[in-house]
Amino acid sequence: MRLRHIAAWIILAFTVADAQTIEYSKFFADNRLRVDYYHTGTKTEEMFSLEQVYEEPSFAGSRTNLVDTLNLGLYQVRVYDAATNQLIYTHGFASIFGEWKTTDEAALKIRRTFSESVLIPCPKRPIQLAIAVRDHWNRFVEKWSTYVDPSSRFVSRTPHGKNIPVTMWLKNGDPATHVDLVMLAEGYTEKEMEKFRKDADRLLKALFSTSPFKEMKSNFNVTLVETPSQESGINRPRENVWVNTALETTFNFFDLPRYVLTAENRRLRDDLARIPYDAVIILLNTPYYGGGGIYNLYSIACADNQWSSYVFVHEFGHCFGGLGDEYYASTTPYNDAYPAGIEPWEPNITALLSPPDVKWRDLVAPGTPVPTPADSSKYPFPTVGAFEGAGYAAKGLYRPAIDCIMISRTQTQFDPVCARALRNVIEDLSR
Ligand SMILES: [Zn+2]
Repeated sequence: MRLRHIAAWIILAFTVADAQTIEYSKFFADNRLRVDYYHTGTKTEEMFSLEQVYEEPSFAGSRTNLVDTLNLGLYQVRVYDAATNQLIYTHGFASIFGEWKTTDEAALKIRRTFSESVLIPCPKRPIQLAIAVRDHWNRFVEKWSTYVDPSSRFVSRTPHGKNIPVTMWLKNGDPATHVDLVMLAEGYTEKEMEKFRKDADRLLKALFSTSPFKEMKSNFNVTLVETPSQESGINRPRENVWVNTALETTFNFFDLPRYVLTAENRRLRDDLARIPYDAVIILLNTPYYGGGGIYNLYSIACADNQWSSYVFVHEFGHCFGGLGDEYYASTTPYNDAYPAGIEPWEPNITALLSPPDVKWRDLVAPGTPVPTPADSSKYPFPTVGAFEGAGYAAKGLYRPAIDCIMISRTQTQFDPVCARALRNVIEDLSR
């Protein structure tokens, strides 16, 4: 046990030392590099191949916090200075492929491919860009690496996204020291943009009335991106409803009725090419219940359902904080989303492999037993403990509190562990 703590301390010490010694202006320019690649495989195979590198204006991320200490996500992009092999940038993320590989289709060895992008500060010198993947024990292992010379004429400078109207909903300052959210219209025709602005305003007000966003609103910039759709509404394959929209967002993703995603990564990235952003929200012009959220990819929510505010905040919790679902009674298409005996990387779900060492132990009040009985009279919200039932499993996985936005539609607050995880990301992007 003690050895493990010492090892963890040494890793942390090295990470912090790295973060402190990387001087942004020595290695990076103000703009950003977008690296598009294909992520291909099955349940057991995983391959990457380079598609195109783009230079785009303004990198929005932190300039002092270049090596990611949050340790979130299923994947991590790593940037090495090619001349010295020094690690100069890392950032965690998750992806549609990462979810798809746990489905039946992937288990049948049907090989599929998804387009993905990583955004990094534009290096001044050639780099080696690597993607690390979590192994069975949730340790990052590099699976793919490619050389990128930022001065090459093969890096595209195509000025995408030039004619899309944008409005600032909230402006607090420099993108480098603020959290930059962008919200895109999806399924809104050009004539419906006034509705988009009203819907966006209503749902952003719901987000910023929820802690910790409420108290930290001055850390944010929010830009509305009026991506026009040719037709109104959203694809619903189970009802054979097909709509020509800006981002080809689709209900029934993985054949799940309420799950909404878009696999049109390139369209999304092109539309955002001229805007600084840390997190992406896609707002759906639909009354049907649904949404989706993937860490550092995007969050999606329906605008006109009675539960829209809830869906909007819940999905943003996935996308922004890397929070896991705490519910366990609904059906999902995922097999072995959380393998037995492995501690999940999500900050709000634990396998409780060693109850006294539960990862949020500093928030557990003395006298609260761990695991914690699901007795709301003795341990009411927001008491922190370890309550069994989380991550789509009734047994073997635990959540921090009896209730939370990440488990039930009737709860309007994040539990203290989720709230802290979200605060950590806000602080990380504000430095
Ligand atoms: Zn969820």
